[in-house]
Amino acid sequence: MSAVWHPFTQHGLNEPIPQIVRGDGAALWRADGRRIVDAISSWWVTTHGHNHPRIAAAIAEQAGRLDQIIFAGYTHEPAETLAAGLRAMLPDALTRVFFSDSGSTSVEVALKMALGYWRNGGEDRHRILVLDHGYHGDTIGAMSVGARGVFNRAYAPLLFDVGSIPFPDAGREQATYDALAAAARAGAAAFIVEPLVLGAGGMRMYPAAVLAEMHRICATHGVLFIADEVMTGWGRTGTLTACEQAGVVPDLMCLSKGLTGGAIPLAVTMASEAIYQAHYGPDRATMFFHSSSYTANPVACAAASANLAIWREEPVVARIASLGERQAVRLAAMGTHPRVANARRLGTIAAFELEGDEGYLSDRAPKLMAQFREAGVLLRPLGSTLYVMPPYCIDDTDLDAIYAALGEACDLG
Ligand SMILES: *Cc1c(COP(=O)(O)O)cnc(C)c1O
Repeated sequence: MSAVWHPFTQHGLNEPIPQIVRGDGAALWRADGRRIVDAISSWWVTTHGHNHPRIAAAIAEQAGRLDQIIFAGYTHEPAETLAAGLRAMLPDALTRVFFSDSGSTSVEVALKMALGYWRNGGEDRHRILVLDHGYHGDTIGAMSVGARGVFNRAYAPLLFDVGSIPFPDAGREQATYDALAAAARAGAAAFIVEPLVLGAGGMRMYPAAVLAEMHRICATHGVLFIADEVMTGWGRTGTLTACEQAGVVPDLMCLSKGLTGGAIPLAVTMASEAIYQAHYGPDRATMFFHSSSYTANPVACAAASANLAIWREEPVVARIASLGERQAVRLAAMGTHPRVANARRLGTIAAFELEGDEGYLSDRAPKLMAQFREAGVLLRPLGSTLYVMPPYCIDDTDLDAIYAALGEACDLG
């Protein structure tokens, strides 16, 4: 019996948990020798491919030099290089880089920075606005600003109250704008949003113009705009960040998942100078009170800098565009299936709903996953939403295998 307790897993159902021993590009190998195509980038993290040689080399090299050092009162070259690299790639107004370890912690940091900004500035603003169906992580604060449901019902008493803004469904955007403007006028501290695609909420997509308008409303009322780019960042939506497509520069930006190319945990919260300055001064009481043991771990920072070098030196954007086009052709073919609804795509993310389904806890998803496992494809439906989000290096043969498995699922599911 294994002692391991897996995440988002009901061990009582005795579903098989294959052991993976090796990765390369878009492929993973099981202990029994079978090859699996990673159609979801190992939960949205792997961008350039598994075991990318440049990232693996950077990790090995740094691990032999300096493994870890307290980051309060000390600094190191990998963190300084990475921070400078991020500043050079991301909007000029995001002048400060705060490190943490995961998407959830980057969100916690952003929320704390937003409240610190208001408190240190002497204004009592603490209400956080969120978009319906949002997801920002599984820690208590991140759950508080995410959608409520079966995932967090047991913890509801611990979650803080937020202002919910309706998702901008096509044709009903005005309701979103009106609710956001009213809540902003009432003096909210910040609005946190996943730009262009709500990932865990079912790959719900909305246009760049809507993101721009939501940002404009927040700016008008001085409400801080937190862009949670944890999933959308690093090319997922076709550009380095999703905000870029809307010309939006947020006050706070959360980045993680693809920050190290998906090789090792790391996150950053990028902040505007105004937010930094609100914590700056001779008074110790206004410093930013946050740290974790491995803040800016040197090995993780070196991996992230290798990712940035790949972005600077290789045709990543062209690679993403090609993957997007190759997905579009296959998605269009899927879209003609009578059970496929709402086929949609943004950048490297393709999604659709399988009709005749009954929500996240229906046993169809596990059945589908078993079927995908047999087909040698790693896919994990979000309730009735099926989606494909592969590493950017995937070839046509593997992409065909994914869509063949999806086609079979639609026929049988
Ligand atoms: C995955 C995700 C998170 C949480 O990241 P973890 O690294 O799993 O803590 C936060 N926000 C968004 C949008 C995500 O997709």
